[in-house]
Amino acid sequence: MLKVVYKPHFNDSPTNPARCFYKEGIIEINRSAYDLLTPYQQKFVLQHEIGHYVNQNRNEIEADRYALSKLALKEPNSLYNYAKSVERIAKQPTRIQQAKIDAVKKAAEDGSEYARSLLANADGSECKPSKNNLLILIIVITLIIVLLWKILKK
Ligand SMILES: [Zn+2]
Repeated sequence: MLKVVYKPHFNDSPTNPARCFYKEGIIEINRSAYDLLTPYQQKFVLQHEIGHYVNQNRNEIEADRYALSKLALKEPNSLYNYAKSVERIAKQPTRIQQAKIDAVKKAAEDGSEYARSLLANADGSECKPSKNNLLILIIVITLIIVLLWKILKK
């Protein structure tokens, strides 16, 4: 059974808001760092530590993903706040980058066309010129031809 223990501070890692002893099923909260976080960030930290326990490993990205699965789309701005939480708490740039990609993937799953287009381009599919751009190009070329014709006719 998972147990949450609140400590006034962590002597060995004063800025770390929480940690999980996943084999023992103990989450320790460092009040001096945890209390400085926003309510969403606190929820994220707790779910991240639960993720270590559920996954039974130290993998930070997997723990982040567990938190995302619990918090995504449950309240306004949850995906933005998720990415911001990881940015605030994580030290590794790869973990922060992955959190942003995972948040965009969630948005795409939720039906965001913009998120889908971002992922389509990120996956290497070619960015084709849109029909609107092509139309504007044709109009501009036509105007140039008409203008040249009028100038040369004089
Ligand atoms: Zn962790």
